Amino acid sequence: MNFLEKWILPPTCVVSGESAERFDLSSALLQTLKQPDAVCPVCCEPSLKQGGEKNLCGACLTTPPAFCQTQVGFYFEGVLTQLVYGLKYHQKLEYARLLAEMTVESFDVTGVQVLVPVPLHPLRRRDRGYNQAELIAKELGKRLAIPVLSNGILRIKNTPSQTHLNAKQRRKNLVNSFEIKTDALAEFSHIALVDDVITTGATMQVLAECLQKETGIEKIQAWAIAKTE
Ligand SMILES: [Zn+2]
Repeated sequence: MNFLEKWILPPTCVVSGESAERFDLSSALLQTLKQPDAVCPVCCEPSLKQGGEKNLCGACLTTPPAFCQTQVGFYFEGVLTQLVYGLKYHQKLEYARLLAEMTVESFDVTGVQVLVPVPLHPLRRRDRGYNQAELIAKELGKRLAIPVLSNGILRIKNTPSQTHLNAKQRRKNLVNSFEIKTDALAEFSHIALVDDVITTGATMQVLAECLQKETGIEKIQAWAIAKTE
């Protein structure tokens, strides 16, 4: 809905068509949104407070991942799934703005110098016409006043769909998938990788490992609109 339409017509929910409350969504759908609570700040998996200062989970305490923090807006379910799939598979490009507006307040941006979208392989990008993670990163960057670096990492291996793979299989699948543009990233010490959804965290882990190995970046965060619960 453009500015003029918004002014003339009452806002309607982009999913249900009912009258919209916030973010172009009906109040019924807004109520279904679920934010992670009591999670490990590093991996965003459930971690009950046990007195530890930062509430790290056991896995991150024993085997810390290559990224230092995971931040997501919501759990990947209900209307979030509809919006992300709409953006990813049904050319609903306007959902990138909507998803960024919904989640922007969830992110603690302290120290983050640049947003780097998780890249798509050029062939897949050509088929889809865009990289949804890049659209989301740009909408977030605009609102957070953080620059976006779209060509800092290239995807050089067209990995098959990861949907039915577990974390270990996903990592194997991703080996040698990325090329890091070290010159483009040389000036940064603290970055956030941005994706639409984090499922097992394998993509973020492999990417962060490559960045650690090939650049001087000290802090790598993993950001996404949503995460599977
Ligand atoms: Zn953890």
